[in-house]
Amino acid sequence: MPSIVVVGSSNTDLVVRAPRIPSPGETILGGNLEVVPGGKGANQAVAAARLGAAVTFVARIGTDAFGDRSIEGFRREGIDVRAIRRDPTRPSGAALIVVAEDGRNAIVVAPGSNAALSPEDVEAAADAIRAADVLVVQLETPVETVVRALDIARGSGVTTILNPAPARPLGRDVLALADWLTPNETEAASLSGLPVRSMADAEAAARALRAQGAGGVIVTLGAEGALAVWEGGTLHVPAPRVAAVDTVAAGDAFNGALAVAFGEGRGMAAAIWFACAAGTASVTRRGAQPSLPTRDEVEVVLARTTESGGGAVR
Ligand code: ADP
Repeated sequence: MPSIVVVGSSNTDLVVRAPRIPSPGETILGGNLEVVPGGKGANQAVAAARLGAAVTFVARIGTDAFGDRSIEGFRREGIDVRAIRRDPTRPSGAALIVVAEDGRNAIVVAPGSNAALSPEDVEAAADAIRAADVLVVQLETPVETVVRALDIARGSGVTTILNPAPARPLGRDVLALADWLTPNETEAASLSGLPVRSMADAEAAARALRAQGAGGVIVTLGAEGALAVWEGGTLHVPAPRVAAVDTVAAGDAFNGALAVAFGEGRGMAAAIWFACAAGTASVTRRGAQPSLPTRDEVEVVLARTTESGGGAVR
C-alpha cells in the first residue's frame, strides 16, 4: 500500500443553486443549502485514500462544528488525522458557492485556519513526510509552509507533487523542489507567462516550466485529458468522453490518483493514464469529496480510455 502525505487546505463548501448569480445589492431565492466537504488538500487526501493509499493529512482546522465534521469525514475515509492541528483562534476554512442554472458559479473562499498552517505544523509531521512514498502539496496554504514540506520530502528522497492551485507566482527555488508540477491550463499560463489555448501551447508552457526548474510537468486539460513533459519524453493522454455533470475537484482527483500511481511504482505513462481516468470519473458526479472515485470506478474508465487508443510517448 503506497504511503502518501498531503499537506494543505480543508474547507467546507456551502453551495446554493440559484436561477442566476445575484447582482450586487440583490437578494434572490435559491435551492436548499448543500454542505459539502472540500478544500484542495482535503480533496486530494480523500482521493488518494479512496484509491487505497495509506494517507496522512497535514492541515490546520478550527475547533468549530465545520472542523469537527471535516475531521470525522477524514476518519471515515481511513485517513491518519494525527498531524491535523486544531486552531481555537480561527474559523475552519469555508467556501461560499452560488451555482447558477446555466452552470456558471461565483465563489468566495474564507481561508480561516488554512491561512495559519505554518512551517512548524509541517515540521511536527516531518517523520511522516520522510517515511512517505509521495508528498502532495497545493497553494491554498502559505507558500513558506509548502516550501518547508517540499524541503523535508526532498531531503529524504520522497517524490514530490506540487499542484500549483490556485495559481500564484513561484520562484525557481520553489519550482525546483517539485519532481512533478501539475498545473491546469490557466495555472500553466499564469506560471509560465505564455498563453495556453492549444495542445502545442500547453507543451510550450510545460517546457518553459521545466526550464524554470520543475522536474516533470503535467498540464491537465479538462475534457482534453492531460499533457506531460518530462525527461522521458512527451505524452498526451486523452480523456474519454463522458457526460460531465460537475467538474469541481477533477484536478484534485487527478493529483490524488497521480500520487497513488507513483507510490505504487507505476511507470510514468501508466501513472498519467490512471490519474486522468480518476479525473474523468470525478466529473460524472456532483460536489467535491462526494465526486471522488473509488479504485473500481477508475478501473472502469481506464479500460474505456485504453480501448480508445492514443497516448504514445514521443
Ligand atoms: P482542474 O479541475 O484543476 O481545472 P481539469 O479540469 O484539467 O483540472 O481536470 C483534471 C482532469 O480531469 C483532466 O486531466 C481530465 O482527465 C479530467 N476531466 C476534467 N474535465 C473533464 C471532462 N469534461 N471530461 C472528461 N474528463 C475530464
